[in-house]
Amino acid sequence: MNGLMQDWPLVVTSVIDHAAQWHGEREMVTRTVEGPIHRTNYAELHLRSRKLAQALQKLGVAKGDVVATMAWNTHRHFETWYAIMGVGAVCHTLNPRLFAEQLVYIINHAEDKLLLIDTTFVPILEAIQDQLPGVKGYVLMTDRAHMPDTKLANCHCYEELVGAESGDFAWVPVDETDASGMCYTSGTTGNPKGVVYSHRSNVIHGLAGNAPDAIGARSVDNILPVVPMFHANAWGLVFAGPMAGCKLVMPGPKLDGASIYELLDTEKVSVTAAVPTVWSMLLQHLEKTGSKLPHLKRVVIGGSAVPRVMLEAFERDYEVDVAHAWGMTELSPIGTLGSFKSGMEDLTFDERMDIKVKQGRPMYTVEMKITDDDGKELPRDGKAFGHLMVRGPAIAASYLKGEGGTVLDDEGWFDTGDVATLDELGFMQITDRAKDVIKSGGEWISSIEIENVAVGHPGVAEAAVIGVYHPKWDERPLLIIVPAEGASPSKEDVLSFMKGKIAKWWMPDDVAFVDEIPHTATGKIQKLELRKQFEGYELPS
Ligand code: AMP
Repeated sequence: MNGLMQDWPLVVTSVIDHAAQWHGEREMVTRTVEGPIHRTNYAELHLRSRKLAQALQKLGVAKGDVVATMAWNTHRHFETWYAIMGVGAVCHTLNPRLFAEQLVYIINHAEDKLLLIDTTFVPILEAIQDQLPGVKGYVLMTDRAHMPDTKLANCHCYEELVGAESGDFAWVPVDETDASGMCYTSGTTGNPKGVVYSHRSNVIHGLAGNAPDAIGARSVDNILPVVPMFHANAWGLVFAGPMAGCKLVMPGPKLDGASIYELLDTEKVSVTAAVPTVWSMLLQHLEKTGSKLPHLKRVVIGGSAVPRVMLEAFERDYEVDVAHAWGMTELSPIGTLGSFKSGMEDLTFDERMDIKVKQGRPMYTVEMKITDDDGKELPRDGKAFGHLMVRGPAIAASYLKGEGGTVLDDEGWFDTGDVATLDELGFMQITDRAKDVIKSGGEWISSIEIENVAVGHPGVAEAAVIGVYHPKWDERPLLIIVPAEGASPSKEDVLSFMKGKIAKWWMPDDVAFVDEIPHTATGKIQKLELRKQFEGYELPS
């Protein structure tokens, strides 16, 4: 028997329609690329998205075309997403931090037809435009007064395009399984691979991400997504926010501690989300200025492991609830979030932090298991490490143009490339990327856990652990440290600080001090580079 419910396709334009109709007055506040704070609301954003959709059609954009953006989190970037998806095209977000060769490869591979860019990124595109034969034009996301002199061919002014249209436009009908968005993953080896989201997957992820144990956006919330729209879908907040009708506060190009603090304070932000690097800058600013966070209730942190010191600072010093999240571009991107289960509120502070330092529990729509090298499922005991496998309706089934071959196993599981433990209650803890795992005497050592302990030392700004050759144990951990500003901790200092905080046989055999640790365009430590840098390193005997 068929269900007798209406056929209501899960398309992303329904999200902005809902926000405009029922939360039309709710604000979006942006720190603009031009500088000043700009205020608008969902009703205006809805109208301007439709005006831009009309303009895109006049520029020749048709259903199924790929249109790229290279932009900060702003009201204009928000409008471009809905306008592009609303004409049935695919919105491809470009990460400006990628190398020029990677951008050329990605833009050509995705067959981007038109690029909408912030003025900040004009020089990047001027330098590569000759290598982009498929790109028919550029739209600079500013007004006439701020249009720079540019060598970009076929260049349009965003505000003039929007200003010339009526907004009398009906979204182009699409199937919910049609592509709506695209984002390339920056693998450390090989070419970047395109993850293609559908309307349906984005809507489902937005709904699941809005569950109270996940991000839990409500209409009364003021949300600041620091996490960029150009990386991993801004963790779904561009959909989850308007679904709930919450105020969105867009940070534009300024992500330093003082600028983020100013927005948190003046806009009374209740929920915010970003990678740990952003929060280190904020915490340093708070410490320096003695400022507090009276409005902030929840900070979602993910993208790389949250150091325990950061967790404790937010929870103890600023009374902000930390939700440690894990995800990937391929998961739209959220997989897990660390909300407590019943009874955990009564645990001691340290016991609660022991749970929060883990990456959290799978949200609904994400199935999860860990397996050994032969694909056999491992126990959920919080101890066994295994390959983290996931399945769900907002998880990639393959990459654009079949790149990377078959990515699912026979039962439809996607191998995340991460290694993790899972405990009885479903809390997952990432121990490493599979390719970064340290194998010592046949046993795995978690580099992430060692790094997490090391950055708790006040003289350590950043830490990375890699395996280096050892004649007896095959590999032993080497701890690489960037000292904090003005500090010069000694090896003995750091090691004695770590004693007792990790298993004895996980203790690094040596500590190396460096000025800088290499990072990828998405801010992750490049362990491959570090391993090259420390190739042949001799551990003390
Ligand atoms: P991306 O697709 O660029 O967002 O990168 C996804 C990868 O980032 C994951 O596969 C993990 O290796 C890493 N990652 C994301 N969140 C966390 C976290 N909370 N702790 C540790 N690693 C993380």
